[in-house]
Amino acid sequence: MPDIEIDVLVVGAGAAGMTAAMAAMKGGASTLLVDKSMIGRGGATVMAQMTVAAALGEQDPDDWKKHLADTLKAGRGLCNAELASVLCQEAPDRIRELDGWNVGWARDAEGRINGVQAPGHSVRRCVYVDFLATGPAIAQTLRTQISRTKNLKRISGFSIRDLVVHEGRVVGAVGVNLDDGRTITIAAKATILAAGGLTKLFQRNSASTNMNGDAYALAMRAGAELLDMEFPQFFPIGHLAPRLVGMDPIMWDPFRYKLGGRLLNGNKEEFLEKYGLADGGVYSAPRDVTAYAIVKENEAGRGSPAGGAYLSFMHVPESQLRAAFGPAIDLLARNGIDLTKQCVEVAPIAHYHMGGIRVNDRMQSRVPGLYAAGEAVGGANGANRLSGNALPEALVFGERAGRFASSEVAGMATAWSDAAAAPVLGLIETINDRAAKASPTETCGTTKMWTELQQLMWRDVGLMRTDASLNAALRRIREMRSKDLPNISPSPGMEFNSTIEEWFELRNSLLVAEMIAAAALNRKESRGAHQRIDFPNTETDFERNQVLSMEGEQFSHRWIPVTTSVSAPQAAGAE
Ligand SMILES: Cc1cc2nc3c(=O)[nH]c(=O)nc-3n(C[C@H](O)[C@H](O)[C@H](O)COP(=O)(O)OP(=O)(O)OC[C@H]3O[C@@H](n4cnc5c(N)ncnc54)[C@H](O)[C@@H]3O)c2cc1C
Repeated sequence: MPDIEIDVLVVGAGAAGMTAAMAAMKGGASTLLVDKSMIGRGGATVMAQMTVAAALGEQDPDDWKKHLADTLKAGRGLCNAELASVLCQEAPDRIRELDGWNVGWARDAEGRINGVQAPGHSVRRCVYVDFLATGPAIAQTLRTQISRTKNLKRISGFSIRDLVVHEGRVVGAVGVNLDDGRTITIAAKATILAAGGLTKLFQRNSASTNMNGDAYALAMRAGAELLDMEFPQFFPIGHLAPRLVGMDPIMWDPFRYKLGGRLLNGNKEEFLEKYGLADGGVYSAPRDVTAYAIVKENEAGRGSPAGGAYLSFMHVPESQLRAAFGPAIDLLARNGIDLTKQCVEVAPIAHYHMGGIRVNDRMQSRVPGLYAAGEAVGGANGANRLSGNALPEALVFGERAGRFASSEVAGMATAWSDAAAAPVLGLIETINDRAAKASPTETCGTTKMWTELQQLMWRDVGLMRTDASLNAALRRIREMRSKDLPNISPSPGMEFNSTIEEWFELRNSLLVAEMIAAAALNRKESRGAHQRIDFPNTETDFERNQVLSMEGEQFSHRWIPVTTSVSAPQAAGAE
């Protein structure tokens, strides 16, 4: 018998998971929200900095169709228009809902919600709370609402290790309490995967420690399809040098919106125009081409000393710098950085994933009982995401997943199968047993393997890929999955033993790494965030989405036409 029985299980408590859990409760379903970190404090949401795109039309004339047109253009022909249109139509509702919960959107003198024009957007539509504090404000607001949602059950420090599939349906999951290592089985009529992205797989990343791709691996093993896994997004101006302690590596973006920081090559020349971009101090260049341009300048020997580009605010008067940066200027000073006198060096950094679990516009995967939401979902942003589209994606898809999951399970009986849960319970026991028997002097191999995986992904599956680099990566990843990991022991002990969790994270991350490398090998062209040195052109033949699934231990892949039909605007309150 399962330890817990619930209508809807939500895995991951970022913006998508918290919104999904509230919507499921509103739909009348008993709901359990779990997170391997603390509820509302792990993952990307709490780290997000500034922009939330929504066609509110308060300052500039705007509507969701314009937002959609910008999103499709940025997506380089691969956006699923149905998902993208849902995102753009419903983003304003979610923004106003947060406003009603006092998130504190910045407002102009007339009391209208303030927007900035982020790269790729045709109008000022990216709302914010504060330049570096929008994600924390959203997370805090959702946490407050979660705590006010009566009877919503939640468990922090609880990691889902596998979903349980019985007779073709996801019937729940097996998880572990990370404090004491206790295993808990959960029967759920529907499960929503809102476990975030995968950027921790790359050596240079803006991720938190738990963004290691669990959602994609859990979905794949449960029989779901994964879409366009070759498209992790590289944020072009991640901090590179000098050393910066206590600040986020992607902190420079909001200040460029405000002040127009100049991007210069190693010869201190502006260079984006050479790549067809008219940046000219207004910072309008999209992420994919800017990242590409920085790499190409370095290849031509015109990089900055640490291997990136210079970002300069030296043309901005000190008083303006202080007004824009606020207390951040003092943090920079503590790092020995004086922006009036020096440039900083920036370079691309893995930041987001456009690919993910394939769902319909009700957020249902092809496996009955399995839904997904947030960054875990693939398709809405195609081959390149617009700045500010990820937070509304999390909120909109989360609300939808909770709403549709709760309506599906109404009146349904719980199903559970001990036999279907047995393999993962057996694996957990084996690894726990190894930890119990490990000698205190034995070196634990999980940390070393993480380092190797991140370096390999950055070098061979990163910004510039070739047939040779991807094949080399695939060979090594497969070896690590099949030979190395099964022989690695966590360090000894059961309580607070993070190396056991690390072992299971590697189990997922190696599978996800293989998905990315295999998908990148199949896409023999360059498009958006996927750049092949050996196939530099964008090919009409590849204006298709790639679908991966798993048969036994083998991936199979197929190409599908891009969904171009737009979702009909929903009537208020309609299902
Ligand atoms: C530094 C940074 C800045 C950003 N800035 C912006 C911005 O300005 N604008 C914008 O639109 N987007 C931004 N993004 C992207 C955006 O924040 C994310 O895409 C979005 O927050 C994802 O929300 P989510 O709920 O899907 O996932 P997350 O917020 O990542 O939440 C996923 C949760 O799942 C949990 N989890 C993972 N695996 C398991 C498991 N096995 N069991 C249980 N729990 C699990 C994690 O602990 C985590 O709490 C930024 C991202 C980063 C990293």
